Amino acid sequence: MSQEIMEFLKPRVGARFKMWLNICAHCGLCANTCHYYTANDNDPKMIPSYKIRFLKEILRKKGKVDRDYLQRVYETVYYECNMCRRCTLYCPFAIDIALMISLLRALLFSQGIAPEGLVRAIENYKKFGNQMAVTDEDWVETIEWCEEETAEELVGLKIPIDKKGAKLLYTVNAREPMFYPQDMMEVAKIFHVAGEDYTYCSKPGWDDTNLSMFCGDLKTSKMIVENTFKRAEELEVKQVAITE
Ligand code: SF4
Ligand code: SF4
Repeated sequence: MSQEIMEFLKPRVGARFKMWLNICAHCGLCANTCHYYTANDNDPKMIPSYKIRFLKEILRKKGKVDRDYLQRVYETVYYECNMCRRCTLYCPFAIDIALMISLLRALLFSQGIAPEGLVRAIENYKKFGNQMAVTDEDWVETIEWCEEETAEELVGLKIPIDKKGAKLLYTVNAREPMFYPQDMMEVAKIFHVAGEDYTYCSKPGWDDTNLSMFCGDLKTSKMIVENTFKRAEELEVKQVAITE
């Protein structure tokens, strides 16, 4: 495992990361900027600079850590930091704690450690192109159903799908067709009244969430962005609206 860990880290830990790890003065100025610190009675374990001790230690040990150790890293990088980057703004050296936490999450993912919900979403992205496993057929049917329902209120309302040359490709959070189609209906009303030239796309690229990013699965993250880019090119739209 240690070899795999080092193979993963070596190309990713460059001069910038090494410098950050070395210049942290442990001054504690970042402490109060972290909501985990203040919300946990100023628990010193929640000080941002302390959270990235793992990265330093793994490098020092040349990747020789066991599964239990990685589990401790997991608890910190997922449940003690949400990568808001507030601490970086206050650090006199602008040390990017969140970026290092992100690297640790990516390392864990490479070792098969990630929250179950995220892993499931990633599988769905790969198979269906969206996090909720909505099939292309169900997606289009949902839009058509939204159109029918909304047109009862606003006569003549249409929800365009795959409209070539539209100004805007409109994308949504995949939870909307699954749980909140009323949000799509409200948007349709606004666009109709505003006379907006927009379209949905029928193929993957319409879900604008990118949950794989949260566990450092950059390959899937790239695929998600590329899907949307592909649809935008095919439909020759001028802009993409990312609502998430
Ligand atoms: S990260 Fe910056 S602010 Fe926080 S302890 Fe290190 S040097 Fe100080
Ligand atoms: S990036 Fe993490 S450690 Fe820094 S303030 Fe946000 S939650 Fe706290």
